[in-house]
Amino acid sequence: MLDHLAFRTPDPKVIQGATGPWELVIGLEVHAQIASSAKLFSGASTLFGAEPNSNVAFVDAAMPGMLPVINEFCVEQAVRTGLALNAAINLTSAFDRKNYFYPDLPQGYQISQLYHPIVGEGEIIVDMGPGVARRVRVERIHIEQDAGKSIHDMDPNMSFVDLNRTGVALMEIVSRPDIRGPEEAAAYVAKLRQILRYIGTCDGNMQNGNLRADVNVSICRPGDYERYQASQDFSHLGTRCEIKNMNSMRFLQQAIEYEARRQIAIVEDGGKVVQETRLYDPDKGETRSMRSKEEAHDYRYFPCPDLLPLEIEQAWVDDIAASLPELPDVKVARFVRDWSLSEYDAAVLTAEAENAAFFEAVAAGRDGKLAANWVINELFGRLNRQGLGIGQSPVTAAQLGGVLDLISSGEISGKMAKDLFEIVWNDGGDPAAIAAARGMKQVTDTGEIEKAVDEIIAANPAQVEKARANPKLAGWFTGQVLKATGGKANPATVNALVAQKLGL
Ligand code: ADP
Ligand code: MG
Repeated sequence: MLDHLAFRTPDPKVIQGATGPWELVIGLEVHAQIASSAKLFSGASTLFGAEPNSNVAFVDAAMPGMLPVINEFCVEQAVRTGLALNAAINLTSAFDRKNYFYPDLPQGYQISQLYHPIVGEGEIIVDMGPGVARRVRVERIHIEQDAGKSIHDMDPNMSFVDLNRTGVALMEIVSRPDIRGPEEAAAYVAKLRQILRYIGTCDGNMQNGNLRADVNVSICRPGDYERYQASQDFSHLGTRCEIKNMNSMRFLQQAIEYEARRQIAIVEDGGKVVQETRLYDPDKGETRSMRSKEEAHDYRYFPCPDLLPLEIEQAWVDDIAASLPELPDVKVARFVRDWSLSEYDAAVLTAEAENAAFFEAVAAGRDGKLAANWVINELFGRLNRQGLGIGQSPVTAAQLGGVLDLISSGEISGKMAKDLFEIVWNDGGDPAAIAAARGMKQVTDTGEIEKAVDEIIAANPAQVEKARANPKLAGWFTGQVLKATGGKANPATVNALVAQKLGL
């Protein structure tokens, strides 16, 4: 999608087995809850944490005779997501029923899109550090409903069910098996999450289960993946296992690593990997079988008779495309170019759209690098330590900009700027007015500094001897002068004067 930044492809993760090196092949199916206040086929609320079974419409509870009515906004969100991943949008898609029995699925089937998804091929650039990234293909995105939640730990003899989540709209975003290691898998989820948050189609709150991933892992020998890439023939790849429902980046990586080693041990032992669905147990640090694909469910997919095929118009898609915000890759490239930032700093500043907007408000009309340093180190650093988001920052962009203006004009030193920032953080106010009221003014008048230097040199003849013998010791004089002038003197000016007066 984006060639704004040139990048090198990272090396795949290699695991040394007893019989030689192995490589990993990974494909992810990410379930992202669509940001929408109402469910996919009902008007019930999607609010997280509501009283159990309080957000359940008749159709969610599968009452007889109830019919689903599609929520246009959810469709729009899926289209927006597809466009942000530079994917093909299918103007005709259709819903299917995936039949299975489970207590948290009152309908006895999930409405999904198996045969005709709304979004086709797209891609995600997965960043692995400045100048290093992998292009991962997205195979499809389809819309489907979420199930409810069974609760087994409230009573020794009974299970409970909460249907609040039943019918909430999900996007399933399916990648090609283009991911080549645990870190890349985590970086893929992070990049996808970032894009979804930029465009507002998913909150990406992994703890709430708002974004969760099924991860498919297989192993192959070096060279096999390139053969697969050249031919798209899956027989070059190993048999995969799928690990369900990962909602932590750390566990995702641990599960992949464990699973790859498990498969290597099986194959090196002369066995065969059996395609199956597994679960990761973070306490034991291992995956275990949940169900095998052989005995697998026959889901008896068939077109949902309650819903007509979904037809959308190109003009509508074009309108959505026109409303997309600037996306992370483009923003990073622009920040590097327009603000003369390193790719690393640009990536930090653009992690969230709100952070990037704040930075640009600070940097406007000012030195980009100075603004980046202050926003990243002083502001973000402090917000992070206090667990605050940019929206809760006690210092506004205008206030921080005011501090930077005083630095740039030479009115205050870096040290004073930090003190001033501290005051603005705690008490608010206009930085220039505070600096004036508190007499925070850097002395650039060399006459005054010279006088202080002369006095200190005159009062410390022994120290002068030492500094002349070893010029490194001249720093002591600078320190004394800064102290004597109450930190108001510009250190660079003092340094130069000290060296000159000592004849160094
Ligand atoms: P299913 O319908 O059984 O879930 P799919 O063909 O839809 O199978 O693939 C599901 C996921 O598995 C996709 O993300 C895909 O990239 C991944 N995948 C397919 N083959 C492999 C493989 N050999 N190794 C790792 N991942 C794979
Ligand atoms: Mg699947």
